[in-house]
Amino acid sequence: AQDSLNKAEKLSHLNAFLQIDPELTLAQAKQADATIAKGEQGILTGLPIAHKDVFVTKGWRTTAASKMLANYVSPFDATVVEKLAQAGCVNIGKLNCDEFAMGSGNENSAFGACLNPWDTTAVPGGSSGGSAAAVAAGIVLGTTGTDTGGSVRQPSALCGVSGIKPTYGTVSRFGMVAFASSLDQAGPIARNARDLMELLNIMSGFDDKDSTSVMTCDGVKNCQQRVKNAFNHQVALFQSNGSQPLKGIRIGIPAEYFAEGIATEVKIAVEQAIAKFVELGAERVDISLPRTALAIPAYYVIAPAEASSNLSRYDGVRYGHRAQDYSGVEQMISRSRAEGFGPEVQRRILIGTYVLSQGYYDAYYLQAQRIRRMIANDFQEALNNKCDVIMGPVTPTVAKNIGDNKGDVTADWLADIYTLGVSLAGLPAMSIPCGFGGEKQNRPIGLQIIGNYFKEGQLLALSDCFQ
Ligand code: GLN
Repeated sequence: AQDSLNKAEKLSHLNAFLQIDPELTLAQAKQADATIAKGEQGILTGLPIAHKDVFVTKGWRTTAASKMLANYVSPFDATVVEKLAQAGCVNIGKLNCDEFAMGSGNENSAFGACLNPWDTTAVPGGSSGGSAAAVAAGIVLGTTGTDTGGSVRQPSALCGVSGIKPTYGTVSRFGMVAFASSLDQAGPIARNARDLMELLNIMSGFDDKDSTSVMTCDGVKNCQQRVKNAFNHQVALFQSNGSQPLKGIRIGIPAEYFAEGIATEVKIAVEQAIAKFVELGAERVDISLPRTALAIPAYYVIAPAEASSNLSRYDGVRYGHRAQDYSGVEQMISRSRAEGFGPEVQRRILIGTYVLSQGYYDAYYLQAQRIRRMIANDFQEALNNKCDVIMGPVTPTVAKNIGDNKGDVTADWLADIYTLGVSLAGLPAMSIPCGFGGEKQNRPIGLQIIGNYFKEGQLLALSDCFQ
């Protein structure tokens, strides 16, 4: 833990952390040492990790990278935080992200952008930018992130690390600052699939404090060891296949993921990665996800709609920032919100309230929900009838320069094309590093692997084979 704290200090120019508190960290490390001294340690005991600043943590500030919550300290821990602490992980600090997890470059943080450790003129991706940067920089071995429309997979890809968004409902949302509740799902970011597996194994599981928490996964009662058991089972199967470990695995390649808009260097790196899976014995199958492009408008209606509702709680009374000058309650609320929320958050609240308002609800919100269902059906058609997993890019390009998208608010939205559909469908998906691009060949590229519901173990085992 001390080592991680030193590295965090040395790399503070990356702005990956919003809060470091050596006293809190070292107290937790001491407990881990005591456990080890007694010989009662688990595989994660003493492991330095850090949490995206949307997970509430007792004793630490939880800001969601917003002025609105600049001084908020939660009286309790998020379920994910609690579980990792119980497993002996040591929290090194709270990580930078986009405000309320809205963004794709970590530039929407009220506390400044986070830099990409590979190339500090590039964004680390977002919204879990700090989570990916802290792992890429070697400050910690694992971090937590949240993925509503790509925020674990996309920063992992752009920072050259591995990340997984599990099936919706398998990791508790209790204590996670809400953005869009029907999409929000926490997932770990780490250096490789095996580390991800150990972290996800602890993070996931039924939680009666989250009404959308899943009790039975893939016919199995949601036990603590679900992910690990599935992973080990799959690894054993692969090993029994000898020199062609992936024999029998069909990889679906969606035509729409390699169409217009993808940078050549990304396409080549992803194709090479897929070729390696084929060398390992997998079979390549061409598939189609015809509504890929529709995921963008559907997501950017549904996510803001849910956000506008979730963020109505920040009224200057119950939580967060309260304006100093006001006359009357109404002005107090409106000024508190105008001062506390940044521009992207305000934009989403406005879009959300608009699409939910009477007269527009049917035209926008209901329509978006219908498209969401069709997108989920397209994935089911592919994953039930044609292939076992789907592979493609995570992002159309390598990381942009910091400041590149200024003034163009939809540029980031359009770049979410390969991640949003998975989120709308609630499927598990991960990102693993598969190359570099950019002028100096120093900007990472990620491969996305999408699986059917509850197939996290299979995705992780496949990635482990590749790595
Ligand atoms: N880029 C998407 C957005 O801005 C996804 C963010 C996320 O997954 N939290 O909404």
